[in-house]
Amino acid sequence: MVINFAAGPAKLPEEVLKEVQQELTDYNNTGMSIMEMSHRGSVYLKINEDAMKSCRELLKVPENYKILLMQGGGSGQFAAVCMNLMGKTGSADYAVTGTWSWKAYKEAQKYGNANLVFPKPENFTTIPPQNEWKLNPNASYLYYCDNETVDGVEFNFVPETNGIPLVCDMSSNFMSRSIDVSKFGLIFAGAQKNVGPAGVTVIIVREDMIGNAMKITPSVFDYMDVAKNNSVSNTPPTFIIYIMSRVFEWLKRNDGVEGMSKLAQKKSQLIYGTINKSNGFYTCPVDEQYRSRMNLPFRISGGDEALEKEFLQKAEKAGMVQLKGHRSVGGIRASLYNAISFENTETLNKFMNEFYEGKKLS
Ligand SMILES: *Cc1c(COP(=O)(O)O)cnc(C)c1O
Repeated sequence: MVINFAAGPAKLPEEVLKEVQQELTDYNNTGMSIMEMSHRGSVYLKINEDAMKSCRELLKVPENYKILLMQGGGSGQFAAVCMNLMGKTGSADYAVTGTWSWKAYKEAQKYGNANLVFPKPENFTTIPPQNEWKLNPNASYLYYCDNETVDGVEFNFVPETNGIPLVCDMSSNFMSRSIDVSKFGLIFAGAQKNVGPAGVTVIIVREDMIGNAMKITPSVFDYMDVAKNNSVSNTPPTFIIYIMSRVFEWLKRNDGVEGMSKLAQKKSQLIYGTINKSNGFYTCPVDEQYRSRMNLPFRISGGDEALEKEFLQKAEKAGMVQLKGHRSVGGIRASLYNAISFENTETLNKFMNEFYEGKKLS
């Protein structure tokens, strides 16, 4: 086994993979695999329901919110959010703090007036203070990305909007800390970063947000349609949802999102501590207060590509894989999602320290 620090699709709890393996050819004495079952049959429908129930329980989702399971990934939601919500006033506000919120903003321009609440920063290394945000009181919603996977920028506050509904992309820090769902109009998250394999996206939406979809909205992207049909209006990715529901069970066994929150704090502090103590050998460009607990980007010796290549090769030899930074940012990126244990993080930390010591001496 290797330690997989990928940004997504990412490491899944080994326990869950083993369970899935055990049940692969014969689920619960049905004599067949989940993959082969009707999505309208009682066995699958229970899995679908359990997945949504667990999600509600883990995040303490209030009764007046729907939980939807959809396809099309996080990127699909960039469009779905607009088609469902933007028609209300024809405009929406976007806070762009990184690569993914930028993409969402670009997509939104197809559907109406998408406005930036602050100019696009040249580098995504911080979050402008809220008093510099120019909010449009007529916006249908304010959109932001809670954790920028590529750039390693994570919010440590929930934006104040004076009543404008908040729409948040939580794809890469979903279920890694407690949230007050009632502060949001809509939250979405692709499963493949923190809660499952690629193929399903979880949407948590306040009921009163639903019902203003544009006429052009495809039915499979229409929140009303999906909600009415309990997320089985068409064939859902049954096997993926089953695995996600097993990850939810695993989360419950591990103190839920509070447990993950403590763990994420501990893991990320360990690595950032090593970066900070390295006398500039390792550097993270992100403002300390907005450094992501999930995706930790860093450079070595001011961005020495030969050295970074050596780091990645040696890491791989030592069983640590997928540490390469996103192609747009370069360098190294360690993703410490829920399934990465503290021990896994300690292994990386030890390796980083040894690599640094070795270079200091040579
Ligand atoms: C990965 C990611 C996306 C895009 O997800 P896809 O499923 O590939 O469309 C969107 N937002 C964030 C924050 C992500 O990390």
